[in-house]
Amino acid sequence: MAGEPQEDCLFCKIVAGKVPATVVRETETTVAFRDINPQAPTHVLVIPKAHYRDAASLAAGDTAVLADVVREAGEVAADEKLDSYRIVFNTGSGAGQTVWHVHAHVLGGRGMQWPPG
Ligand code: 5GP
Ligand code: ZN
Repeated sequence: MAGEPQEDCLFCKIVAGKVPATVVRETETTVAFRDINPQAPTHVLVIPKAHYRDAASLAAGDTAVLADVVREAGEVAADEKLDSYRIVFNTGSGAGQTVWHVHAHVLGGRGMQWPPG
């Protein structure tokens, strides 16, 4: 069921504390932790504690928590003193999604190109 923890989900395991992560922020509804394979000086993932497979599913299921994720992305950027940063929701394997629990990548601390690769 949407929102329920999934036994085989890596990020649900991080939420549950069963897999270690470098947590930088936590709220009632979200967790933010450093990406294990950073692509920029700041690379933090912000996830809802509830399991949804992608950003659109979260938007359909719980708009308030989607807003929490985006607000926390902004708080991460503020904590890291970034005035410019990128929020990315890779959606679908063709776009690079590899973990099927929605996560906002917060990337900053270097110049960014457009369009993204
Ligand atoms: P995606 O490719 O789905 O957009 O992003 C998944 C992200 O999760 C990748 O950037 C990857 O480096 C990160 N990741 C994968 N496994 C782990 C892990 O065990 N711990 C942490 N902190 N990040 C992970
Ligand atoms: Zn999950």
